[in-house]
Order: sequence, then C-alpha cells, then structure tokens
Amino acid sequence: MGSSILFLGSGGARFVVARQLRASGGMWFRFGSTQIHVDPGPGALVRALSHVPPCNPRELDAIVLSHKHLDHSGDVNAMIEAMTSGGFRRRGALLAPADAFDDEHVVLPYTLRFVERVERLTASSGPYPIGDVELFTSLQHAHAVQTYGLHFVYDGLRVSYLPCGRYFDALARLCRASSRRARR
Ligand SMILES: [Zn+2]
Repeated sequence: MGSSILFLGSGGARFVVARQLRASGGMWFRFGSTQIHVDPGPGALVRALSHVPPCNPRELDAIVLSHKHLDHSGDVNAMIEAMTSGGFRRRGALLAPADAFDDEHVVLPYTLRFVERVERLTASSGPYPIGDVELFTSLQHAHAVQTYGLHFVYDGLRVSYLPCGRYFDALARLCRASSRRARR
C-alpha cells in the first residue's frame, strides 16, 4: 500500500491562522493502512470531512501534536471525539508533549478518557509504535512550549516534520542524528 501526506492546512503562526489566510487543519499521513493526523489546528475536523474524498477520523490510528500552541492543537478535542465516535468507541492513540496534558493543558480530561492509548512525548525519544509506523521525537525546540520535531519511519521510508521554533545550530545537527537513529 502506498503512502501519502495530505495537507488539510499548513497554517503559519497566529496572524495567518486568525485570518485563515492559509487553513490550519494540519497534516493527514497515510503509511500503508496506518493513518495519523498531525497538528489538528482550528478547522481540522471540518477540513478533514469536507475533503474529497473525505478523511475519516474513525479510521485514524493516532493523533499527534508537535506542541500545544493553538494553531497546532485547536481542534484536538474535536478530533478525539470524531476518532472515537463521540466517545462511544474507545480507540486510537494520542501522542503529545507532556505539557499538553499538564499546566494550561489543551487536551480536555473528558476527551482523554475516550482514547485507548496516551503517550507523553519527551525529547529525543522513541520509537513510539503507531500501527506499522515508528515515531521518533527530535530534541526540544527553542519555542515557548514543549515542542518536538517528529520523524515517522515506515517500511524504509522516513518523513521528518520540523515544526515551530527559533533556529539554532544544534537543531540541524541533532535532527540529522535523530534521522540516523531512526534509520537503524
Ligand atoms: Zn508554536
């Protein structure tokens, strides 16, 4: 089975999102039969369902947040409810940095109960198995909240996502190191 990345919206910080100059639905990954929604920002659920053909949240294996800022997480609770058929079918995984669950959490405790598996991501860690995919995190980015790059490894394919953060030299170096580790 093939792999694809569908951009439900690339967003681009708060002004772009607030005016919806670009949509902010995040990315919908298909790796074979494994489906992962990354960074469901504002409008993600509407974008997913209105896409032709629609993306079906009930087929999702996991929702992943790179960090909890609104443009990356605004629809996370709506997507959890959609993934779990309104909470009536406990299933799927949610993977997010620990601070998405703690102080000023963005994941509501009641939706969290609908998810079968919750992973609190930490820096430079993994593999976190999601279906046929292994997820690795990068080092912590220079950003206001816990933020990690994400490396998805599937059947010899590696896709890396570099989310928000200020550039620093170690970022490129350590991303390469993460990639090497992911390839092993
Ligand atoms: Zn951010």
